[in-house]
Amino acid sequence: MKRRFFVESTIAAAAAASLPLERLFAATTAETLKAIGDVDAVTLSGGSTVIRRAVLRELARSLDGQLLLPTSAGYDKARLGWNGMVDRRPALIVQCASVADVTAAVNLAREYQLLTAIKGGGHSASGLFVCERGLQLDMSLMQAVSVDPKARSARVEPGVLLGGVDVATQAYGLAVPAGVVSHTGAAGLTLGGGFGKLSRKYGLTSDNVRYFDLVTASGELKRATVSENPDLYWGLRGGGGNFGVVTAFEYQLHPVGTDFLVGGNMYPLTAARDVHNFYADFLPTAPDELSCSVTSLCLPNGKGFVSASYFYGGDPAQGEKVVQPLKNFGKPMSSHGELQKYVDLQKATDRQVAHGQQFYQKAGFINALTPGLIDAIVGILGDPKPVPTNVGLTQLGGAIGRIDTASSAYANRGAAAQIVLGGSWPKPLPNGREIIDAYRSDWKTIAPFTDGFYVNNMAGDEVNKEVRDNFGANYAQLAELKKKYDPGNLFRLNPNVLPGAEA
Ligand SMILES: Cc1cc2nc3c(=O)[nH]c(=O)nc-3n(C[C@H](O)[C@H](O)[C@H](O)COP(=O)(O)OP(=O)(O)OC[C@H]3O[C@@H](n4cnc5c(N)ncnc54)[C@H](O)[C@@H]3O)c2cc1C
Repeated sequence: MKRRFFVESTIAAAAAASLPLERLFAATTAETLKAIGDVDAVTLSGGSTVIRRAVLRELARSLDGQLLLPTSAGYDKARLGWNGMVDRRPALIVQCASVADVTAAVNLAREYQLLTAIKGGGHSASGLFVCERGLQLDMSLMQAVSVDPKARSARVEPGVLLGGVDVATQAYGLAVPAGVVSHTGAAGLTLGGGFGKLSRKYGLTSDNVRYFDLVTASGELKRATVSENPDLYWGLRGGGGNFGVVTAFEYQLHPVGTDFLVGGNMYPLTAARDVHNFYADFLPTAPDELSCSVTSLCLPNGKGFVSASYFYGGDPAQGEKVVQPLKNFGKPMSSHGELQKYVDLQKATDRQVAHGQQFYQKAGFINALTPGLIDAIVGILGDPKPVPTNVGLTQLGGAIGRIDTASSAYANRGAAAQIVLGGSWPKPLPNGREIIDAYRSDWKTIAPFTDGFYVNNMAGDEVNKEVRDNFGANYAQLAELKKKYDPGNLFRLNPNVLPGAEA
């Protein structure tokens, strides 16, 4: 059944009316009920526990959504995500369709001390949305988006993808700054910070959340706003899924209009050094409206290109003047510049980063594009791998950096850009491990120029000390919050914060 998004003119109307059809028909099937037996699942400590058939049948009957077991139709779709390399098999999946379902699943997880994963959009490259032999909460049935244009707000459920948010909000010429690929989950992105083309002007996605509703580890439903549970509100803005399962967000929207000036130049790979040198000087001069990215691709034959793109989030006529130096730089192989609809733009690279590819990346924040870093980038681009290799820079700064780091858990506000190194290939390769090792080794030449990393782009090999260091001065407060709301660290498949003293 196709997903449906709801756009209502008021939140009140939406609250009364929004119940996607999928939900109405989502109850656990008779076959699944019949097939339910005792389930052996892994616990938080790595041991085993048995959940009896009767308990599971009662749970399944109580759900608005459904219980999926490895034999159920829909089990594979629910457990798999964006990165085809992630292939874990939970012992059971609760496909939540309501807050009551989330509460029931969290209570089960706590009672049996189950290793527990939460899936929003399933875009976590390292697979934090799923666990082997544990419990997965799949939020994909919770799909409602309701926009209140007068209040300039959007209430979004945790299974919604960014495309759903953009389509609903752009109907009113409004937007919340968020990521650049429409099939990314709104929930995971927001909890880790979230940035995209409008962030230099309006801040992180998490800077634009008015409230979070969430079910904590104790099974309590709480709302977090600037005045209600403000400690949670602080931690949820950048602290990842450490404190509970979010069941809804409300975003603050901005009146941005629908059409934007975008463009870019494509250069041969041989121009990589010159292009990076140019952007090293240009980026610090850019106004907040301008958001640039530079992506280099090195093919296995050593050929490739550098794509330098811009987005102007303000008056296009003014933008034309601002982007002249970018348009005029060097000798591009091709060039484009035009007005585009925001919703189209947000989908423009969807197919290039489609689901199911084998994917590996390392990512970090940089404060400047220094000569040493440019040497490292050029060195990597001159060393082809058996698969195409990307080195991408996304400009940050602007409004993101002007917000006080102590005002929310997000700790990397000083970053001028994010750098990402990696590659993808269509199916498992016999030399896949060697390719990953080669990227890890390349990353060692870039890492000295980085200052922290984006918690939403962790590669999966980070140790707790790195996560702690990355949160910097905010970690102590996060650890206290974790002790208060999740003392048993039930929610640990995330940029994990250890509770209180353990930290
Ligand atoms: C192709 C691609 C493009 C991307 N582009 C951008 C970009 O432009 N900007 C950007 O900021 N990021 C970007 N990202 C990174 C993105 O922010 C993360 O992948 C993020 O995890 C996506 O959220 P999700 O809901 O799909 O995550 P999932 O994989 O479902 O979950 C990721 C984490 O969030 C937690 N989580 C999910 N839902 C909930 C919930 N309801 N309650 C509590 N915890 C929850 C999970 O437990 C897990 O720890 C991109 C990623 C990819 C793969």
